[in-house]
Amino acid sequence: MSSKKLKISLIAIATIIIIIVAAYGFKKIRYKIMRSKETFVPSESGNNYFSLEEMQHSDTAKKYGISNIAPPEAVENLKLLIKNVLNPLREALGEPVYVASGYRSAKLNETVRGSDASDHLTGQAADITLKNPKDNKKIWDWLLRQNKYDQIIWEKGNGSPATGTYPDWVHVSYAEPKSLRNLP
Ligand SMILES: [Zn+2]
Repeated sequence: MSSKKLKISLIAIATIIIIIVAAYGFKKIRYKIMRSKETFVPSESGNNYFSLEEMQHSDTAKKYGISNIAPPEAVENLKLLIKNVLNPLREALGEPVYVASGYRSAKLNETVRGSDASDHLTGQAADITLKNPKDNKKIWDWLLRQNKYDQIIWEKGNGSPATGTYPDWVHVSYAEPKSLRNLP
């Protein structure tokens, strides 16, 4: 084989490898987008408000390099939480509801000093906020009225459920059937 032919062959092989790698990369990205949007739960009006990515996101996990990928059972629980609580809440309030913490791996839960029996470990709970604590009382009131939650917790902030004005965020969990902890 002449050196010119060899050169052309090498370029051809390199081009094929580049195309394969690029196609694989594209497929992976597309899969990621599909996973984050389509495998999640459309609301009654057909909107996707909460992605799997958001339900697994944690600033603490990112900071300490902790893996926080929900296993399939936890993904199913997250879907139930979104379908029965988060989507209806989002549509009732008509404004973005932010998830500060959804699913937590055991390692992440330990790092944030969550309870050993935390419903975040099974994907059954989320800490939610409207970003402005004063508005978080709206979340609390709506959840109480609907009574679809398993447990809600008024997290810090100004006052308490009995006396208070607003929580910093609201912890809400959903379970089928309800556990016996369904008191605020
Ligand atoms: Zn919580």
